[in-house]
Amino acid sequence: VQLIRDIEEMKNVAASSRGEGKSIGLVPTMGDFHPGHLSLFRLSRERVQVLVVSVFVNPTQFGPGEDYEAYPRDLDADARMAQGEGVDLLFHPDVDRMYPDGYATYVQVAGLEDLLCGLSRPGHFRGVATVCLKLFHIVKPHLVVFGQKDGQQAVIVRKMIDELNLDVEMMIGPTVREPDGLAMSSRNRYLDEEERREASVLYAALRHAEVLIESGERNPEAVAGRMRALIERAPRARLEYVSLVDARTLKNVDVLMGDVLIALSCWFGKARLIDNLLLNIPSNETA
Ligand code: AMP
Repeated sequence: VQLIRDIEEMKNVAASSRGEGKSIGLVPTMGDFHPGHLSLFRLSRERVQVLVVSVFVNPTQFGPGEDYEAYPRDLDADARMAQGEGVDLLFHPDVDRMYPDGYATYVQVAGLEDLLCGLSRPGHFRGVATVCLKLFHIVKPHLVVFGQKDGQQAVIVRKMIDELNLDVEMMIGPTVREPDGLAMSSRNRYLDEEERREASVLYAALRHAEVLIESGERNPEAVAGRMRALIERAPRARLEYVSLVDARTLKNVDVLMGDVLIALSCWFGKARLIDNLLLNIPSNETA
């Protein structure tokens, strides 16, 4: 794997690959790779000739008092794992080159960023959309791959690609989980032993919702209520939200039908954990 820090060099290397007629894939990440990241590298690796992975802890998507400084960084370990997965280029730009003094340009996907995680993280999705668009312009990939784990992020990036007429295909890889169901995340490192044990309740609550819906429940508040009750039985859980929303608009639905995203956020100690399930729900008549 070749490490590139310089933005111009990244542009030039990608441009010459493109000039040779090679297809380019990009997987944007904040590093600290775990099997969730590696699954996205594999999805992309099968489909493109040149695989670029960016490692950039993006300051514009962190709010004041969030974990920007504490966020785990280990470029050497990441480079070894990238090498093992056949990643061609690891792009690791400097923060002050990505955002020089006086930086002022941001992308906003209005209407989708003030919901769910956006409520407690104002500005977060503006930072995400901005850094993604910058990375897309530097690398100009044919394919970008994101994870379903960050469900709202995937919806927002897809809408940005669509509405800004970007010539890039997007794929979303399934959430990779620990054996007890906990979604893999760099932030799981913040959990102590007790918190880690209790955190499996989040996936249990999502599965419980799925079972309720399979047995005919179509009232979103009834399902959310059962999920909240289950999660609140974990003494260390501090639930932020449980929402059942339209998978495309992220707006609340009155009846559970069609493509529904069941999303939640919950604190355990210093860790803010998110998870979701994407369901296609038949109406009760056809079920
Ligand atoms: P991050 O480094 O956390 O910003 O994540 C980089 C990419 O990996 C994003 O597209 C995430 O959605 C994706 N990702 C993170 N965790 C997982 C997981 N457990 N399973 C699948 N994809 C993931």
